[in-house]
Amino acid sequence: MLFRSHIAFSFLVGLIFINILNPSNQILFIILVLFGSALPDIDQPKSKIGKKFKIIAFLFKHRGIFHSVFMALIISFGFYLFTGYFSAFLLGYLSHLIADALTVTGIAFLYPFSNKRVRGFIKTGSIMENLVFLAFIIGIIYILTYSL
Ligand SMILES: [Zn+2]
Repeated sequence: MLFRSHIAFSFLVGLIFINILNPSNQILFIILVLFGSALPDIDQPKSKIGKKFKIIAFLFKHRGIFHSVFMALIISFGFYLFTGYFSAFLLGYLSHLIADALTVTGIAFLYPFSNKRVRGFIKTGSIMENLVFLAFIIGIIYILTYSL
């Protein structure tokens, strides 16, 4: 999925979980969610974050270990040590994995222990992705208007 779809989806997820978890610092919570959702594509040299860390994209295959639940947990734990927040970054990261699982390429959640991919029907950058993006934006506007 495109960067903007990941950001929109994670923002939506973050807003929903702010209502559930009631974090003391909501701004930091959302920032960590957004950062968590941007990070997995560090393994993709053409992505926004991958361009800045080309060595990672060179060393690790795209949608491999950085698109697994294991890396989500490891990096989230690292963030917990620095910020005291675990769930925010993890939520963002998992939202990225779930969104990618909706695409035809799919992702292997349990890589490297299993190569079995969960796939969806959305082609990255297609009209369908744009419609999904629009649905995320409508969801965000709805929550910002009615439930915060
Ligand atoms: Zn991805």
